[in-house]
Amino acid sequence: MGNQSGIKFENSYALLPKEFYARVNPESMPKVNIVNLNTELAEELRLNPTWLIQDEGIKFLSGQEIVTGSEPLAQAYAGHQFGTFVPQLGDGRALLLGEIKDINGNKRDVQLKGSGRTPFSRNGDGRATLGPVLREYLISEYMNAINIPTTRSLAAISTGETVIRERQLPGALLVRVASSHVRIGTFQYFHARQMTSELKILADYIIGRHYPSNLWKGNVYLELFRNIVKKQADLISHWMSIGFIHGVMNTDNTNVSGETIDYGPCAFMDRFQFDKVYSSIDHTRRYCYQNQPKIILWNLTRLAETMLTLIDTNVDTAIEKAEEILNEFPKLYEDFWVRKMSSKLALCKTETVDKGLVENFLNLLHDENLDFHNSFYFLGDLLEAVQLKESMTSDHQKTIKTIESSNWYISWRKRLMSEKVDQTELTKRLRLQNPSAFPRNHLVEQALNSAIYDENMNPFKDLLAGLMNPFKERSLQDPFAHSPKSSEEITQTFCGT
Ligand code: AMP
Ligand code: MG
Repeated sequence: MGNQSGIKFENSYALLPKEFYARVNPESMPKVNIVNLNTELAEELRLNPTWLIQDEGIKFLSGQEIVTGSEPLAQAYAGHQFGTFVPQLGDGRALLLGEIKDINGNKRDVQLKGSGRTPFSRNGDGRATLGPVLREYLISEYMNAINIPTTRSLAAISTGETVIRERQLPGALLVRVASSHVRIGTFQYFHARQMTSELKILADYIIGRHYPSNLWKGNVYLELFRNIVKKQADLISHWMSIGFIHGVMNTDNTNVSGETIDYGPCAFMDRFQFDKVYSSIDHTRRYCYQNQPKIILWNLTRLAETMLTLIDTNVDTAIEKAEEILNEFPKLYEDFWVRKMSSKLALCKTETVDKGLVENFLNLLHDENLDFHNSFYFLGDLLEAVQLKESMTSDHQKTIKTIESSNWYISWRKRLMSEKVDQTELTKRLRLQNPSAFPRNHLVEQALNSAIYDENMNPFKDLLAGLMNPFKERSLQDPFAHSPKSSEEITQTFCGT
């Protein structure tokens, strides 16, 4: 494809040594169709949405025609999967088309997920199916809507193929956008092969792309490591503050840019339990909700191991310097977490008692098996002393009464006094910090089933529209306000690869 599109593509990754990737073109797909286009993101990327839905645009989005400047490639990476090191993973069903500069002048990777086999496919077919593609679309766009760093979804595309999984399913592609796709596993790939100069090239690439190293003093690679650690501490504290369970926190699914990536069997909790797991393959509960901060520290330690030769020529000195940063992680994470969680309780000034207050609230939710989001959302109603309305279900009433009659509630009210602001301000803070909508598993499942089995995209579009307005005041009748009934509850989620 020539330059009719006006898209200015580059692929800086293709300029790196050939060991970093394999050049592959997307496979041809019989009948590509846009299932959902993210026009807002398209505009942010300076892509014309009207062109994108025309024949040429669809061919571009689905990788059926390659725009000048784009050089499709599959990135090489390794990774620890559930604690076991796999020296070669790589993009087995994804291709990086290249980068586009967005309206803010930032380079954004455009990647196709589900575009066919690559040299990294191992036994996989390189394909994706509609369910997981729509799931990633919904959840990644929701994360963005609530200001959590994430890869984005530009388009979901049906390929016209049937893909064989446990049954025959419609094939699909996700056009994914990220500030980059370098993972801890990318560092591990070169480390495992003792390719020290490639490690340096990779680290320099990441510094050039993401970090203002001109502001750094001293050892740039140590500073790079420090910055990645900080971004991950912030990211995971975000996840924890919204009851998000990633489900596959393997090192190949940890992006060094600090964006949430690879939405497989992830889920948001309805009823709060510290050790909650949804993923069907997480038999040992390795990636359960409360383990996520520990796991990211484990992953960052694996990253540190790959960077030692860059940090110092003397290995003992390098270990000492990296350990110093890793040892700071618990405090760093806790500070992010306490700040985020206490702001969900309408507290702005951070005080020493706040950590305990947050922990006690979560203990209450856990002990009483209360709905995570409703519990936070109802705090606003409690402050305004809203009478238990008729429209409240018994579950809503139980949540409110349990919180209101707890010792925790007395401590919280007392603590709110020291904020020295009026009730309207407190309620406003609560509403701003606690979304009324989130991708409840059973709602997501219903929307995806309609798309897959009834070819009806309306439930998906309605759900997406609701999720794009996460802080709107919603009535208690709203589907987002209800925990699933036991017949609706989704207890397991699947990778769906
Ligand atoms: P994930 O679990 O999605 O993070 O993927 C882990 C690894 O498996 C990555 O190297 C993927 O590229 C690869 N993979 C997942 N699904 C497929 C598939 N259908 N075909 C080929 N490779 C796949
Ligand atoms: Mg992955």
